[in-house]
Amino acid sequence: MKRIAIIGGGISGLSAAFALEEQRRAGVAVDYVLFESSPRLGGVLVSERVDRCLVEAGPDSFLTEKPWAADLCRKVGLGDQLIGSNDAQRKTYILVHGRLTVMPDGLMFMVPTKILPTVFSPLFSLGTKLRMAGEWFHPPHQADGDETVADLVTRHYGPEMVDRLADPLLSGVYGGEACGLSVRAVLPRFAEMEAQHGSLGRAMLLARRKLAPAGGVPPRPLFTSLKDGMQQLVDALLARLATASLRPDTPVESVQIQSGGWLISAGDGTDHFDGVIVATPASAAAALLDIASPDLAAGLRGVGYTSSVTLTLGYDRNVRAALPPGFGFLVPRSEGRRMLAATFVHNKFPHRAPQDRALIRCFLGGARDEAILLLSDQEIVATARRELRDILGLAAEPQFARVYRWKGAMAQYGVGHLERLERIETRRRQVPGLALAGNGYRGIGVPDCVRSGADAAADLLARLGLGSALSAQVQQRA
Ligand SMILES: Cc1cc2nc3c(=O)[nH]c(=O)nc-3n(C[C@H](O)[C@H](O)[C@H](O)COP(=O)(O)OP(=O)(O)OC[C@H]3O[C@@H](n4cnc5c(N)ncnc54)[C@H](O)[C@@H]3O)c2cc1C
Repeated sequence: MKRIAIIGGGISGLSAAFALEEQRRAGVAVDYVLFESSPRLGGVLVSERVDRCLVEAGPDSFLTEKPWAADLCRKVGLGDQLIGSNDAQRKTYILVHGRLTVMPDGLMFMVPTKILPTVFSPLFSLGTKLRMAGEWFHPPHQADGDETVADLVTRHYGPEMVDRLADPLLSGVYGGEACGLSVRAVLPRFAEMEAQHGSLGRAMLLARRKLAPAGGVPPRPLFTSLKDGMQQLVDALLARLATASLRPDTPVESVQIQSGGWLISAGDGTDHFDGVIVATPASAAAALLDIASPDLAAGLRGVGYTSSVTLTLGYDRNVRAALPPGFGFLVPRSEGRRMLAATFVHNKFPHRAPQDRALIRCFLGGARDEAILLLSDQEIVATARRELRDILGLAAEPQFARVYRWKGAMAQYGVGHLERLERIETRRRQVPGLALAGNGYRGIGVPDCVRSGADAAADLLARLGLGSALSAQVQQRA
C-alpha cells in the first residue's frame, strides 16, 4: 500500500484527493491523507445563503470552454445542478470619465471583430479607432521572447486599449495588470495569432467563423456554475472522500525526505508517506520545500501573488428596478477608484437573488491595492458604497453586506512564467515522490486547478509505479 499526503484542501487538493479516491475504489493499492490548515475545506470556494440570496465569497462560476470543472461536477453527481450564465443579459460596461459605457458588440476578449459597433462606440477615442482600422494590416510578428500583455496590446491598438480594456479585464481574472502579466502565459493565443496572421482582429474573426456552432445549435453560455453555488462542488467532493483521510485545521509545518519517502509534520504529529502532492499556493509550497529542494523552492518563490477583497451588497426591489441591465462593469485604473469591477449577480445568475432583491458583488484589491486588506469591513463597505453612489447614483442603504478577504490568493504569471515553470518542473522531477498542483502553474481558473490536481495525482501514481491508466491521460494532455 502506497501512502500519499496531499497538502492544501482547496479545489486543487480536493481534485487530487478525488482522483486518488477513484483509484483506491478501483482496487489500486493507494491511500491518502489531505492536510488543510484552515478549519474548513474548499479554499477560496465558499458560498453563503444570506437573506434568501446566494452569496459567493470567491469564484462565482467558471469558463464553460474549459471542461474539467464541469466534468468533475458530473463525476460527483452534480450534472443536473450545472447552470449557465444568463447570456441574454450579457452586457458589460466600462467606466470612462465617470460614466458607464457599454462594451461594443463583437469584442472578443479585447479584440474588435465587428466594424460598426466599434466605430460608433464612445468607449474609444478617434485615435484608437484609427489604430484599430490600421491593425487589420498588421504584419506577422514573431516576438524574440516573452513580453507583457501591455506590450503586445499597445503594439496593435495603442495605450488607450490597455487602460480601458486589457487592464480591467485582466484585473477581473488575475487581480493583476497588463504591464505585469506575461503574454505567453496569460494570452498565448494572442502571441500565436500575431506570429501567424499579424492582425489579431483578422485572426479572431477567422477563429470565430471556425468555432461558430452549426445552424440551429444555440451557443453555449460563457460561464457555468452550480445552482446552489460553487460550495456545492466542495460538499459533493467531501461526501465522496474517506472522512478518515481528511485533516482540516491541521497546517503542515515541515516536509522532509526520509528513508525513500516523506516525513510530514502537521498539527501535533509526524507521519511517513511514499509521496506528497503540494497543492498550496506556490509561495506556501516554497516555504514547505525549502529543505527538500532549495532550488525548487527558489523557483516557486518567483511566482507572485496578489490579494483581493469581494464584497456583496444586497438591496431591495427598488434598487433592482433602477440598476442598469447587464452583468456589471469594469473600472480602468485611470478612473482613480478602488473598485476594480462589480457584478450585477441578479442579472448574471438570476436564481441567486429572488425577484425582490438586487445583489451587487464588488471586487477590490489587486496588484496596486494590497493596502485594501488593512481596512476594516466597515471601511471597505463605506468605500464601495461611496463609489457605487458616484458611478450608479446608488445611495440606498443595503439590506446586508458581506466582506471576504483573500490574502495572496491570486497567482500572477509575470513575464518569463513559462520558462520559470520549466525550471520548476525540472527541479521537481529530481525530487522523488513529489507532485505540485494549484493555481500558480498552468492556469488560475477553477477548471485549471481541477485539472492540475487530477494530473498531479496521476503523475505521482505513475512515479510510484501505480495507475497506468491515469498517467496515460496526463501524457495525452501534455
Ligand atoms: C476572489 C476570487 C474570485 C475568483 N473568481 C473566479 C471565478 O469566477 N472563476 C474561476 O474559474 N476562478 C476564479 N478564481 C480563481 C480560483 O478560484 C482559484 O485560483 C482556485 O480556486 C485556487 O484553488 P487552489 O486549491 O489552487 O488554492 P486555494 O483555494 O487557495 O487552496 C489552497 C489551500 O492550501 C491551504 N494551505 C496553505 N498552506 C498550507 C499548509 N502549510 N498546510 C496545510 N494547508 C495549507 C490553504 O489554507 C488553502 O485552503 C477566483 C479567486 C478568487 C480569490
